[in-house]
Amino acid sequence: MGYNVAIDGPAGAGKSTIAKLVAKEKGFIYVDTGAMYRGLAVHFLDSGVDAENTEKIIEACKDVDVTICYENGMQQVYLNGKNITDRLRDEAVGNMASRSSAIPEVRAKLLDLQRNLARTQNVIMDGRDIGTCVLPDADVKVYLTASVETRAKRRYDELIQKGVSCDLKEIEKDIEQRDHRDMTRETAPLKQAEDAVLVDSSHMTIDEVVDAIVNLCR
Ligand code: C5P
Repeated sequence: MGYNVAIDGPAGAGKSTIAKLVAKEKGFIYVDTGAMYRGLAVHFLDSGVDAENTEKIIEACKDVDVTICYENGMQQVYLNGKNITDRLRDEAVGNMASRSSAIPEVRAKLLDLQRNLARTQNVIMDGRDIGTCVLPDADVKVYLTASVETRAKRRYDELIQKGVSCDLKEIEKDIEQRDHRDMTRETAPLKQAEDAVLVDSSHMTIDEVVDAIVNLCR
C-alpha cells in the first residue's frame, strides 16, 4: 500500500494548485480525479449525449476507456487511446462533468482506476469523495475549502489574466450551482470525512496552505 493523502473540497478551493505543490515537496504522485470525470465528459459530449439523459450516459459509459499516465510529471488523460488533456478545462466539459458525475455508473467506472493508482504508489489525490469513498483509509485527509466569494474571485482573476472576459456574479452563481450538485447528490456527495482536517484557505496564502498540509504528512 502506498502512502495516501486525500484532499476533498468544493470547486475552486485551490485543491489542484495546492496538491501539485505538496506532491512536488513530498515526492508524491498527484492524481487529479476531476480530470477523469472531465475525460468521460469529453466522451459524452463527443457522443452527442444530453447531460440530463441518464440512460444514454450509462450506455455511453460501456464503450469508453479512460486511462491516465504521466508525461514530464504532468497527468495526461487518454480517451480510447487518444490524448484529450488539452480539452479538459473547456467550460462545456466542466459543466458536463459536474452533471454526469452524479450518476452512480459514471462513478463506478472510475473507482477502480483511482484505487489502483493509490495501491502501489505514494499519492496525493484530490476530488470530492476521496476521503469518504475512494480512499477511506488514507493516511492524511484534508477538506480544503474557501468562501464562495473568495473562490469566485480567484476564478475571475484567473480568467481575466488569460484575457477571457467574464462576470464575477455569473461565476459566483455557477460555483454555487456546482457546490449544490456535488453536495446533494445521492452517490458519494461532497462532504468532510469525519477524520479529515478542515483547512479554510479564504485568508491564507498558497504557501501557508501547502505548509499546513505538508506538516500533516509523515
Ligand atoms: O475538480 P474538477 O472541477 O476538475 O471536477 C470536475 C467535476 O467532476 C466536478 O464538478 C465534480 O462534480 C466531479 N468530481 C466528482 N468527484 C471527484 C472529482 C470530481 O464528482 N472525485
